[in-house]
Amino acid sequence: MVFVLGGPGAGKGTQCTNIVKEFGWCHLSAGDLLRAERATGSANAELINTYIREGKIVPVEITVKLLLAAMEKSETKKFLIDGFPRSLNNYEGWYDVVGDDVHVAFCLFFECPEEELERRLLARAQSSGRDDDNIESIRKRFKIFIEETMPVIDKFKAKDQLKLISSVQSIEEVWGQTKLLFKDL
Ligand code: UDP
Ligand code: MG
Repeated sequence: MVFVLGGPGAGKGTQCTNIVKEFGWCHLSAGDLLRAERATGSANAELINTYIREGKIVPVEITVKLLLAAMEKSETKKFLIDGFPRSLNNYEGWYDVVGDDVHVAFCLFFECPEEELERRLLARAQSSGRDDDNIESIRKRFKIFIEETMPVIDKFKAKDQLKLISSVQSIEEVWGQTKLLFKDL
């Protein structure tokens, strides 16, 4: 498994799609799984809706359950987990349930300055249909990213499990560096 992190708009989903195409991994976006769960109108739908609009992190039990269910369904057992763990609480919630049953190769972090992320998200807003791609939600997502997700990135770094790629560059340039990390995995 590889965890893929980066600020909102950093290009996680784009590069994960490339990895799937070239190397056949299974891409699971925690955000996409939460949005799909919200769309089913399940008991958690309203709660998920509120958290996403506020840019807040959904209780980890919900996210871990969705991830494990999706992993179960996948034929390939090479997983890209995109947008998770986004907080130390997420991280602990994951390891409490999964422990060492899954081998984590590394955490891939796409680093990009906030001005560029904001520009991308506002451009994406015109077609994404996402109700958190508006300037109020975007600012809240940035704040949560700095406060909650950066400590997770520091943690992977301290464990020598972090691979950092600057994603201010073009999609092709980022892909050039990204694929080097996967070709021998
Ligand atoms: N989210 C969450 N836990 C996760 C992943 C996503 O609570 O593990 C929620 C959170 O509210 C986040 C939103 O879903 O702001 C959108 O996440 P996504 O990863 O799709 O956004 P991205 O960072 O890719 O723009
Ligand atoms: Mg995404």
